[in-house]
Amino acid sequence: MAQAPGNLFILAAPSGAGKSSLINALLERHSESNMHSNKMQVSVSHTTRAPRPGEVNGEHYHFVSREEFEKLIEQQVFFEWAEVFGNYYGTSRVVIEKTLKEGTDIFLDIDWQGARQVKAQIPDTATVFVAPPSRDELFRRLTQRKQDSDEVIEKRMHEAVSEISHYHEFDFIVVNDDFDSALNELDAIVSARRLRKEKQVIRHANLFANLLGK
Ligand code: 5GP
Repeated sequence: MAQAPGNLFILAAPSGAGKSSLINALLERHSESNMHSNKMQVSVSHTTRAPRPGEVNGEHYHFVSREEFEKLIEQQVFFEWAEVFGNYYGTSRVVIEKTLKEGTDIFLDIDWQGARQVKAQIPDTATVFVAPPSRDELFRRLTQRKQDSDEVIEKRMHEAVSEISHYHEFDFIVVNDDFDSALNELDAIVSARRLRKEKQVIRHANLFANLLGK
């Protein structure tokens, strides 16, 4: 897998850090790839949590029951999986392997437990932690969403602090204060990872054979 031409990225963050918006904006920016750069996609996880308003099955998540999820664990379908705040979440192994082999970069929007499991299997995964600029701002963003009740917001605040406590386990840290700056920083990480010699020699094998007259 380490020899696959695609790059694997993990983006972890507490709820309210703006992770989904950053990934969406990054995908938008890279939607027109040229022959010298990889395509990019986000992995769609399986989860046992109930869909939120507006969430589409197969697009935001594959929504399954606990029984179905446990069956998938048994069948070793998951590249990684974890119980996050009372629900199961997992990433499909086949999709990741196939996509990386095709030379497409993948972003995993997963928690620190999943990040650890992936890093253990593919050490050259770039793991990025997105932090909100302050505790007050995190609270403001969690309240602004208006999707959740006060009780849920308080619970999410508690969960956010729990996720943040693992920030030091990641390779990169992006503070999402100004959105465009955070997006540029994320993009810089993507570029730097893509340009590593280990990946470029695979991607441009023909070019170098040609340049060297082979
Ligand atoms: P939410 O329910 O708000 O969509 O996600 C809750 C948490 O679960 C987030 O931190 C998210 O990154 C994480 N998560 C989503 N999908 C996966 C997955 O496939 N594996 C793991 N380990 N965590 C996930």
